[in-house]
Amino acid sequence: MTEAPLLHAPQPPGSHHFAPILRPDLATFYARRAARLRALAAGHELSEYLVLAAQVTDAQAACLGAPAADLPPDPAGIAAAGLWPALLDRMLADLRPKVAAPVREALAQLQALPEAARRTAAIALAEGRFDAVDPALAPFLWAALSAEVARAARAAPLPGPTAQEPPDCPLCGTAPVASTILTGDDQGLRYLHCALCDCDWHMVRAKCTNCGDAGQLDYLSFETPEAPIRAEACGACGSYLKVISQERDREADTVADDLASLVLDDAASAEGFGRSGFNPFALPSG
Ligand SMILES: [Zn+2]
Ligand SMILES: [Zn+2]
Repeated sequence: MTEAPLLHAPQPPGSHHFAPILRPDLATFYARRAARLRALAAGHELSEYLVLAAQVTDAQAACLGAPAADLPPDPAGIAAAGLWPALLDRMLADLRPKVAAPVREALAQLQALPEAARRTAAIALAEGRFDAVDPALAPFLWAALSAEVARAARAAPLPGPTAQEPPDCPLCGTAPVASTILTGDDQGLRYLHCALCDCDWHMVRAKCTNCGDAGQLDYLSFETPEAPIRAEACGACGSYLKVISQERDREADTVADDLASLVLDDAASAEGFGRSGFNPFALPSG
């Protein structure tokens, strides 16, 4: 039997088709994020918290083999009826021996919380009612819910193309963490990263990710204009969101690098801009 020859068809320039939605493999993705969080933690003033975020990410990865309900990626629906409370128990067991005493207290509180109360809290988070949930418990509930919604988002059919690139996740409807400029095959393309399902959706560059205006953008950073992390601030709607460039730092991870640069958020809010999205490890306070 002779094998058919492989055909190599080079793409003519300009014909590169990009995917409107990216759904990165979760095992690879969690491992990369945890490594990045640990790398950024070295010598950082939020070192302990970055390491905790890495441990939570490891715990999410450890849940990948656990059963998940066959539900669409609707955050409130999964909060109400998903199997994530079992994922939360696994995560708590995984984290308990690793964390410092104050965190262990929060984990014990969550462990003792009856399922109905866990679901009520997760529904509030899914609906953006962050002030209804104890901020010490919220990141762990979010992480467990995220681990199930992320899997549901990967099993769901891709939504059809839309005329406008949406400000919120086209798969689960959650706000973005930040946007990332990609490198490699997708060099130069900008994607927003979902704070809950860890998918990415395309958004053209140099346009406000919140209101779509392109006329009044300003880029704030501490270093040079070539800094890998900048806050893209919009004078039209008064919001900002960070843009993280993998072209300038190949190891950058949206959640990790955003969390390690919260000091840039302080600077942007001192300039009068309000953040249009949020980080899963720095949920809005209400
Ligand atoms: Zn999403
Ligand atoms: Zn705007």
